[in-house]
Amino acid sequence: MIELADKNMIQENLEIKNPANPDLQKTIYVNQPTLPELDDFLPLLKDIWQSKKLTNFGKFHKQLEYELAKFLGVEYISLFSNGTLALIAALQVLKIKGEVITTPYSFVATTHALKWNGITPVFCDIEPKTYNLNPNKIEKLLTDKTTAIVPVHIYGNPCDVESLQEISDIYGLKLIYDAAHSFGVKLNNESILNFGDLSILSFHATKIFNTFEGGAVISHDEKTKKRIDYLKNFGFANETTVIAPGINAKMNEMQAAIGLLQLKDVEKNILKRKKIAELYRSAFKNIEGISFLNDVENVHHNYGYFPIFVDKRKYGIGRDELYYKLKKNNIFARRYFYPLISRFQPYRGLESATPENLPVATKIAEQVITIPIYADLEINDVERIIEIIKKK
Ligand SMILES: *Cc1c(COP(=O)(O)O)cnc(C)c1O
Repeated sequence: MIELADKNMIQENLEIKNPANPDLQKTIYVNQPTLPELDDFLPLLKDIWQSKKLTNFGKFHKQLEYELAKFLGVEYISLFSNGTLALIAALQVLKIKGEVITTPYSFVATTHALKWNGITPVFCDIEPKTYNLNPNKIEKLLTDKTTAIVPVHIYGNPCDVESLQEISDIYGLKLIYDAAHSFGVKLNNESILNFGDLSILSFHATKIFNTFEGGAVISHDEKTKKRIDYLKNFGFANETTVIAPGINAKMNEMQAAIGLLQLKDVEKNILKRKKIAELYRSAFKNIEGISFLNDVENVHHNYGYFPIFVDKRKYGIGRDELYYKLKKNNIFARRYFYPLISRFQPYRGLESATPENLPVATKIAEQVITIPIYADLEINDVERIIEIIKKK
């Protein structure tokens, strides 16, 4: 039903004309991927064509693992064909079973990866400040079947990593971070990827750093890295040894080559995003009923998303009204993350999926709109978005 309503709105949008201001028609999406110069990609493609090495731990794959580890400040990284398979494999390598505590306020892949491992997700509410998994609410959800916690650094804002580690240590649970939003994020100058047992990244087109599709698992010792590499290649440890029912989740050479080029501009692009976030914040701080996330002290942010939260009582109109108003003006914002994962059909029957168990997440999901932010978003377009939100 929601999908259908959206389609109708898009149709309507196509018919809106404003000849006085042709710029008004420019369509802006929530995100636009950054790409390297095509001319820089061609020599790498030639190299691939000459070597005939297309995948299976090739030269670019090796080089990208090396460069990424250096750039991110992590020791061991294993590249994947996408982030979802990275998370599925991360759960496999630690043999996670039974029940896993996780957040309903995320992209649906976080919970799907549990389900694909035959794990029962147990939804835990989020914190009212960061919208990350609330460590204070975990204990009451633990049972003798609980084996791990899978939190998400949502919008790239670090979870309460200390408290989560403490709970994991006390109860003997594994801690696997879905860090799909957290490329380049640092806490006290330390990569956020160095916390927990494992972290996964996504290099999907919509993320801060993209290889079209892609992902990675970050591990902290050589043996685990090795096992992850076996698992992503059908479980082969060598030509004649299969150590587990592995999967095919390898990153190919074209993806890796693109990644090497993308890496050069990441910091520059993050700075561009930061400037846009600052413009938004200074414009919205005086609008009653619109709130947003501020930078956290001692955190190097990546500005991957800019969520705003609409308080209907104070702002005058509700979240969905603002969302459709933006659409009418050809601004295609998104409601990340609405509906909550716990509301989707495969999960809504779970005991932990009730709004009563998830009051903060339920409220935030009703208020959120993520508005456009990307490196090449022009300042006059940012101003146009601000104007629409200012005028009710
Ligand atoms: C994008 C994303 C994923 C999935 O990554 P893919 O590379 O698209 O498979 C997983 N979790 C979160 C939180 C994401 O945003």
